[in-house]
Amino acid sequence: MNLAEDARDLFLPAACASCRSAPAAGGGLCAECAADLLTLRPVLATPLHAAPPVVAGGRYAGALAEALNEYKERARRELAPVLGTVLGRALAVVAAEFPDAVLVPIPPTRAARRARGFDHVAAACAGLGALRPCLRAAPRPDSVGLTPAQRAAAAERSLRPRARRTAALAAAGRPAILVDDIVTTGATLAAAAALLRDAGVPVPAAVVVAAAA
Ligand SMILES: [Zn+2]
Repeated sequence: MNLAEDARDLFLPAACASCRSAPAAGGGLCAECAADLLTLRPVLATPLHAAPPVVAGGRYAGALAEALNEYKERARRELAPVLGTVLGRALAVVAAEFPDAVLVPIPPTRAARRARGFDHVAAACAGLGALRPCLRAAPRPDSVGLTPAQRAAAAERSLRPRARRTAALAAAGRPAILVDDIVTTGATLAAAAALLRDAGVPVPAAVVVAAAA
């Protein structure tokens, strides 16, 4: 990023986060890519690890993958509503069965949150239901030099329950639906579910924006 690029970004409308050729209408996508996302049907993900059943808003491919990458890697917050809509469709598949359930987002590490400037999973949940951020990611060593698999393992080991919030959830007898941006191996969701269940909170399902599994 240099000064000329900064200036261009200030004065030109942002390009569509998916196709990058058309200018973005509201919400970070051009009309065509937005339509692609909004016609996706939820799918049942089949991760390797024994996570709770995971419903995804769509497969991690095409416009959804592009939009999710831009949202995560380039912190394009304006994509939160459209990705939230995709997530909401996945949630609708399971929510009717668990009307008391609260949404528990998988937390970002402090470093990721600082780099991005916001909690991207929680932001996509806005308006979808009762949000209870009762997990946190403990600080962990720098992941530079780790493979993606090693990084995922470190992320999963760093999850901790927030004791007071988790106890309140258990006392209220409300189940938790885990929420994440993407499911690949399912290891993170399985680890999060185990922590909550150990604390007395049932975890009947998880929902994600996109399934890479
Ligand atoms: Zn587009």
